[in-house]
Amino acid sequence: MESENAKKHVIIIGGGFAGINAIKVLDKNKFDITLIDRHNFHSFPPLFYQIASSGLDSGSISFPFRREVRHMKHVRFHMGEVKKVDTVAKTVTTQFETVSYDYLIVAAGTTNNFFGMNDLRDKVYTLKSVAEAIRLRNEILDRLERASIATDHERKKQLLSFVVIGAGPTGVEVAGAIGEMKRYIIPREYPELKKEDLKILIVEGTDRVLRTMSEDASRHAYEYLGHLMVDVKLNTTMVGYDNNVVKFADGEEVYCETLIWTAGITGEPIDGFDKSVYARGGRFKVDEYNRVDGYNNIFALGDISYLEAPEYPRGYPQMAQVAIQQARCLAENLNSGKFDKKFKYNDKGSMATVGRNRAVADLHKLHMYGRPAWVTWMFVHLISILGMRNKLTVLINWIWAYCTYSTSLRLLVRPSKYPYRKHWDLAKE
Ligand SMILES: Cc1cc2nc3c(=O)[nH]c(=O)nc-3n(C[C@H](O)[C@H](O)[C@H](O)COP(=O)(O)OP(=O)(O)OC[C@H]3O[C@@H](n4cnc5c(N)ncnc54)[C@H](O)[C@@H]3O)c2cc1C
Repeated sequence: MESENAKKHVIIIGGGFAGINAIKVLDKNKFDITLIDRHNFHSFPPLFYQIASSGLDSGSISFPFRREVRHMKHVRFHMGEVKKVDTVAKTVTTQFETVSYDYLIVAAGTTNNFFGMNDLRDKVYTLKSVAEAIRLRNEILDRLERASIATDHERKKQLLSFVVIGAGPTGVEVAGAIGEMKRYIIPREYPELKKEDLKILIVEGTDRVLRTMSEDASRHAYEYLGHLMVDVKLNTTMVGYDNNVVKFADGEEVYCETLIWTAGITGEPIDGFDKSVYARGGRFKVDEYNRVDGYNNIFALGDISYLEAPEYPRGYPQMAQVAIQQARCLAENLNSGKFDKKFKYNDKGSMATVGRNRAVADLHKLHMYGRPAWVTWMFVHLISILGMRNKLTVLINWIWAYCTYSTSLRLLVRPSKYPYRKHWDLAKE
């Protein structure tokens, strides 16, 4: 007979900010944990745009799960993409295996949302994973090389036509990074090109960039984008993209060969759950204890969870701090077994960087701009990255880039496709 004190088995789907923080707090004497992730490493999405712009390599913002849990005897890592959950048999199925759980924590994050324009998936560049960031980096480098040897000036400009859809933090950061390449790197390292040959436009559906931040932050970010020769188009949504032409709701059409999509995210449904558990944006409806609607042994954390609060009538923001704080709260409730601690978000503020010495930060009543915000941004990101080696590598790369006005990682390394592995053919990667 199973003892009352037998350890319970927790499966965590996803080792992002939420999954990793739940593992750190769950009591090793009460739980055995299996972490399942489609990748074998934890990554740091806030710096994906720096991979795309060759500022950092993927290894410096990623960390192998097995290394992270090597001293935790109660934790096992299984690589696999979860395809199905059987809530009656209490099992999780990946492409490789089926594993049983007592408690299930879904911390699977989100994917790109194309708002019904599903043909975009094959045409646009996105930044939701390390693989997607590397794909964009390769595209930018490939285009710079091809434009450099193109003999027709019009063709050079076509090759270097970039549009970013969505002026939230990711859009602004990636547009700013390409703007920095245009302003500082092209004139020095691509003698065959003029910086005016590269055109970058960022498009936003509302009336300001960084609309979730303060108006001052939006105004400064708008100015910084101008300094980096990035054009901004506000109050317009994209309605289509065909034959390298972006069509906007206001009727305007813009030629663009590299369309970067940062306009929306959505949860990926997992087979086995009734439609009724999902809220807007494909997120799992949860209560203040992060229990998924209708279950008391299944929880959702982070971006994939949806919980409204008076200050957040459209659900808590999909940000790293929410994921981390929810994970800690749930782990404490599971440890005590009492479920007496309701989740309450402690908003520590938000920040975004547009380029060297150009950042904005809203930290409660403190609003910072320019270099102080930029230094704060670097500090906060540096301490949040997993692993000492990663922190040092990132710091050295940043110091190097600051002193040289350049990025030294502009290597166009294309993956080799053969021998072909069907099970590597994940989602969009
Ligand atoms: C480009 C970018 C920039 C961002 N910048 C910021 C920022 O500056 N500040 C901020 O606060 N937030 C930022 N965010 C948002 C922040 O990254 C998320 O809020 C946070 O990562 C959510 O954590 P999570 O654990 O819920 O999900 P994630 O960190 O997305 O982790 C989900 C994990 O689940 C795994 N997974 C997904 N589906 C499956 C499956 N079916 N089977 C197995 N494994 C699966 C994934 O591989 C991943 O490891 C940014 C996001 C992006 C994409």
